[in-house]
Amino acid sequence: MSEEGERSEEKADEADSEETKPKKKESAPEKEKKKDKKRKVKGRIPYPLSLLVNIRMLRRLVQIFFIFAINAYIFTAWFGLEQVTIFWEQFRNLLPTLPIIAPLEAPFAMIAGSFDTMQREFTAGIFPFFTLGAMIIILAIVGRAACGWVCPIGTFQDFASLLTREKIRPAPNTEEELRRVKGYLFIIVMFLAVWMFVSVLQNSAENLINTLGLFAYAAFDPINPAYIIFKLAPEQAWPTSIETLWLISTWGIFLAQIGFVALVVIVSIWFPRWFCRWLCPAGWLYGVIARDSLIGIGRNPAKCTPKECNTCEVVCPMNIRIRRFPYQHVHSPDCIMCLECLSHCPNGAIEIKFG
Ligand code: SF4
Ligand code: SF4
Ligand code: SF4
Repeated sequence: MSEEGERSEEKADEADSEETKPKKKESAPEKEKKKDKKRKVKGRIPYPLSLLVNIRMLRRLVQIFFIFAINAYIFTAWFGLEQVTIFWEQFRNLLPTLPIIAPLEAPFAMIAGSFDTMQREFTAGIFPFFTLGAMIIILAIVGRAACGWVCPIGTFQDFASLLTREKIRPAPNTEEELRRVKGYLFIIVMFLAVWMFVSVLQNSAENLINTLGLFAYAAFDPINPAYIIFKLAPEQAWPTSIETLWLISTWGIFLAQIGFVALVVIVSIWFPRWFCRWLCPAGWLYGVIARDSLIGIGRNPAKCTPKECNTCEVVCPMNIRIRRFPYQHVHSPDCIMCLECLSHCPNGAIEIKFG
């Protein structure tokens, strides 16, 4: 970590210890000063643009839009518009991928997740050149913005977390330990996918499938909330293929999976984005590539007062200790570019950085 980063860390620690001290009663002029500060921040976006642009609201709208856009085929399938359906089907064959989680073979899918697609390609004996290339380019430029603005599972957790302001933040060491779990899951899933890739190339995939069952090419799917919601749930209502019967053959397994999705949403009321932070293997991969993205978040040292406040950390859904990073760039693999810190910083110190 750079000298500046260390200095910032020291200040953050001092501020943390300050948090535990009893607070001094504020005088009237001090209160007035604080109110003035808030007014200035509110007016940071010039009028009349501020009437139109509210980053938080914009993100919510984009998130809602993408829940439907990802499954846009549902509209034509439901309404039976033949010409439109034919058009959608052509587009669907080109299924674009984004660094999110969304199953490739969901019946209404228009957009798939890069990780899901890579897994499918590997297990089909195809090296995912295009998917991998597109994923790296997107993550290297805009970081994990797709996690923050597009991924439906992130969206469900974000909306659940709006239900209460009371949040539980595990101690830093516990948080670190929990974050490791998604890395272990990534290793298991990719190990099986690459094993299958090699087996397909050697024409011995049948043996592997006999040993591992469909886990050989769908290791993440049983606990992939996007797969459960967008692929299994519609098939459970209207089964269309035999391949997924191992997951939906009994209501018991399916109900357990639906229960897991409910757990993801309910727990995120108090632990924002806990699935993203601790369990999502796709998020782990995206974080490794996006850490040094071209566009990121930084703090303006002239405006930031890390000894006096920690608002940015309190509102960060990924529980990132922002003040521990150098001012220039929050090089955290967990930053999803949600801009919550930017919207809430009382000093307008958070800035979008390029390069
Ligand atoms: S980390 Fe969260 S937002 Fe990102 S792909 Fe995984 S579930 Fe989606
Ligand atoms: S909320 Fe703003 S001023 Fe406070 S520590 Fe974070 S960036 Fe600095
Ligand atoms: S650091 Fe800021 S932009 Fe990144 S995840 Fe936290 S709140 Fe969102």
